[in-house]
Amino acid sequence: MRGVKKADLPTKTCASCGRPFTWRKRWAKVWDEVRYCSDACRTRRRVAGAARGEQ
Ligand SMILES: [Zn+2]
Repeated sequence: MRGVKKADLPTKTCASCGRPFTWRKRWAKVWDEVRYCSDACRTRRRVAGAARGEQ
């Protein structure tokens, strides 16, 4: 079988590290608010400060 995707999940770009990340079950209810790929990036963002402008 060809063209069978493992999962057609939505993706976003992390506002901290800039890497794309895929929808996770833990974000099912807050996906619209998720901006970071992990808690580490979320924390890092705050620690590093807003050196760069947000997109
Ligand atoms: Zn990240």
